[in-house]
Amino acid sequence: MFGQMQDRPLLISSLIEHANQSHPHAEIVSRTVEGPVHRCTYGDLSRRSKQVAKAMLALGVEPGDRIGTLAWNGYRHMELYFGVSGMGAVLHTINPRLFPDQIEYIANHAEDRVLFFDLTFAPLVEKLGPLMTTVKAFVAMTDRAHMPALKLPNVLCYEELVAAQDSDYAWPTFDERTASSLCYTSGTTGHPKGVLYSHRSTVLHSWSACTTDSLGLSSAESALLVVPMFHVNAWGMPYAGALCGAKLVLPGPGLDGRSVYELMRDEKVTLALGVPTVWLMLFNHVDAAKLDPKKDLCLQRAVIGGSAAPRAMSERFEKEFGAFVVHAWGMTEMSPLGSVCNLLPKHRDFTLEQRLDLQCKQGRAPYGVELRIADDEGRSLPHDGVAFGHLLVRGPWITDGYFKGEGGQIVDGDGFFDTGDVATIDADGYMQITDRSKDVIKSGGEWISSIDLENAAMGHPGVAEAAVIGIAHEKWQERPLLIVVKKAGQDPTREEILAFLATRVAKWWLPDDVAFVAELPHTATGKLLKVKLREAFREHRLPDVG
Ligand code: AMP
Repeated sequence: MFGQMQDRPLLISSLIEHANQSHPHAEIVSRTVEGPVHRCTYGDLSRRSKQVAKAMLALGVEPGDRIGTLAWNGYRHMELYFGVSGMGAVLHTINPRLFPDQIEYIANHAEDRVLFFDLTFAPLVEKLGPLMTTVKAFVAMTDRAHMPALKLPNVLCYEELVAAQDSDYAWPTFDERTASSLCYTSGTTGHPKGVLYSHRSTVLHSWSACTTDSLGLSSAESALLVVPMFHVNAWGMPYAGALCGAKLVLPGPGLDGRSVYELMRDEKVTLALGVPTVWLMLFNHVDAAKLDPKKDLCLQRAVIGGSAAPRAMSERFEKEFGAFVVHAWGMTEMSPLGSVCNLLPKHRDFTLEQRLDLQCKQGRAPYGVELRIADDEGRSLPHDGVAFGHLLVRGPWITDGYFKGEGGQIVDGDGFFDTGDVATIDADGYMQITDRSKDVIKSGGEWISSIDLENAAMGHPGVAEAAVIGIAHEKWQERPLLIVVKKAGQDPTREEILAFLATRVAKWWLPDDVAFVAELPHTATGKLLKVKLREAFREHRLPDVG
């Protein structure tokens, strides 16, 4: 017997409709590429997304067509999020930090029909446009006065497209499993692969993000999205923002420490989301300008994900900003939220030191995500916080297969997807990533976590950034090499850093050597590019430490 409740489809258009009904005056503040800070409301966004939807129809876009964007976080990009998906097409956000040949590959693989771009990327579009064989129109996301002169046919002006339409439009209703947006993984090997989200997965993910035990986004927050809208839809926050009516602050191209700090201060930001590298830039600015964040800002929480949040970073946010670090983990294939580190009642009496230890963990799965750890043979491992193995996930906002079947079957017989991460899970369900499976250091049959070593090294006052890779070793198979970028004005020695680590990690985990470099290579999404490091240090000879 079926229940007799209304079967309303979960569509992205319902998010912006709701925001317009319940939070029409909540603000979206954007730093624009043209310069000034722009302010609008969910009411404005609702009207303009409908104009965008009608503009799509006028351009001949049909349901299911892919529409590319090369754009920063800003209100026009938000209008595309709702306008394009809402009318039934698929928004394909392209990461402009990828190599140009990857961007060309992605646009052609996705068969993008129209490409929207911010002015910053005009030279890139001019170069790649002729190679994007399916793109019929290029739309510069600006007004007539700022239109770039491009040697490309069919370059249109965003504001003219929008102005040519009114907002008298009823969002179409269709199956909630319809594709809504597409995002390619920034794979470090092989071609990027597309993850195709649905309306249903996006709405469920947004709902989850607004629950207290997840990111707890709400209409009370002023949320700064430093995480880019071209990287897993800014962790789903534009959709979640509309669901709960949060004020959103979008930094555009200004991701340097000063710009981020000023937006935090001027827009009274309470919640800020980003990867560790952007917070390092923020800290550098605070140091250089001798600022007092506790006095200037009202930041309450910083959500850190994308890479492990180092303990020292959580400590600094806590002590200098008065802000609690919410450590989160996920991936493009998971929309991305997979786990969030919030506290349980039993942690109320923890000392700060105990709490910071806990915050190094990536946290617990919200409802909707099932986590498992397994050994090489697929046998489940205990949730004791010690055993570590392959991290497998299942749930309604997790991919079932890549776009156009790339990579073949990617879930096991029980529907679990192997994340490629290695993790422990403790008795309370707190998961901790110990490595990517290809980065874990295999020493004498045991595994050493490169991430744990990196975090420990970053606790040293002279270390700005650290990476650990495995170097081939005759006796032990692999041994860890620590590669360090020194903090400006500091000059720590190999011996000092090793002595510091010796009090923090097991003896057999201690790196055999320390190398100093001016900077570390990163991927287009800000992660350490270990493939590059392994290449660079292939010939490195470890000293004989016995
Ligand atoms: P992406 O799909 O580009 O978002 O990358 C996903 C990968 O980033 C995950 O599989 C992890 O390896 C890594 N990652 C994301 N969040 C964290 C975190 N909090 N700690 C450690 N690694 C993370």
